[in-house]
Amino acid sequence: MNDQGSPIEAWRSAPRPSRPVLRELVIHGPQSRTDLARKLGLSSGSLTRLTKPLVEAGLVVERDIRHDPVNGRPTRPLEVVADQLLFMGIKLTSERVYAVLTNLRADIVERASAPLMDLTPATVVAEAGRLADRLTASGATPVAAGIVLGGNAHAPAQVDESDLLDSGILGWQGVPARRLMAERLGIPCFVKNDVTALAQAYHWFGEARGVRDFAVITVGDGIGYALFAHGRAVRMTEADLGEFAHQILDPGGPMCPSGHRGCTASYATTRSILMTAAQGMCRFPTYAEVLRLALDGDSVCQETVQQAAWAVGAVIANVVNTTTVKTVILAGEAVDVVRIGRPGLERGLAARRRDVSGIDIAVREHDFHDWARGAAVVAIQAHLSDQH
Ligand SMILES: [Zn+2]
Repeated sequence: MNDQGSPIEAWRSAPRPSRPVLRELVIHGPQSRTDLARKLGLSSGSLTRLTKPLVEAGLVVERDIRHDPVNGRPTRPLEVVADQLLFMGIKLTSERVYAVLTNLRADIVERASAPLMDLTPATVVAEAGRLADRLTASGATPVAAGIVLGGNAHAPAQVDESDLLDSGILGWQGVPARRLMAERLGIPCFVKNDVTALAQAYHWFGEARGVRDFAVITVGDGIGYALFAHGRAVRMTEADLGEFAHQILDPGGPMCPSGHRGCTASYATTRSILMTAAQGMCRFPTYAEVLRLALDGDSVCQETVQQAAWAVGAVIANVVNTTTVKTVILAGEAVDVVRIGRPGLERGLAARRRDVSGIDIAVREHDFHDWARGAAVVAIQAHLSDQH
């Protein structure tokens, strides 16, 4: 496709030294030249020189005149033009594919999902491709796509470090996922660990905006973890993530599928929650049923939920004590156990942390499209990085 003169082409031709200005406007919204120059450590002359080509190319617009609250001088805030550029985000699970289309500021403009009939690379790529076709049926061309999935706890490398992907969740070994997706979608693709991507989305466009040190812990099929220090994601191998999920909280606790007694996964994954409840109920409930019965006062389900939340509280204490972060965001498919079992979480936290004041714990509503949005943020960040 010839995109000469299109917004994508305009971005590609933006001078590299101007990229930090674009990044700043994308992340922090419209602002005056004075504020931009101060934040980026530039003289006002340099800033004018860097923003001029961006305004001329239509990537940045000047808003209406405002008066500076301090000195009363008129200023025209600069704003990035976000709606002309679209990004695709795809979240793979073992059951469904979720896809979103966002603008440059990660606002979701389209969303869709579809079940996976099997987990072969051919089926997964074809299904993701069909979803992408649906989202772009109006003729929109995304700049790039991010693809995220849960990590394989036994792989030594990060999900995004190699072009050959191992995935425990999909049963893949050495699959060239990035290349296959790029061929099917026809745009550059980036593959990343799903929790790291979610954390990047919170950092740029969510509750962790402006927070330099924070952690994200997710509960669902597995226990996920991402850590930001000094404004950057701490690099972790998939093996590190496996160790995090299987840290022992109580050597006399229940057993996880790997045979550990009392590890975090043995309490707080969806499967563990169901197994614990099933023991008391003498039958297998659904996850939604466990939550409903817990809310209705059923003692088995209440105890199950409190125990899972206790484990999350204990893990939060371990994270806060060892990393000194004070902001922890909880998310994931099973995050409602934390909401319902909040007293259990507080107990687990207080058992390992003397001073719990100043610890900010945010609980996100679960929505897999939110994870797909994290994938779109991966594509946005790649687009705004200096490498492209
Ligand atoms: Zn374990």
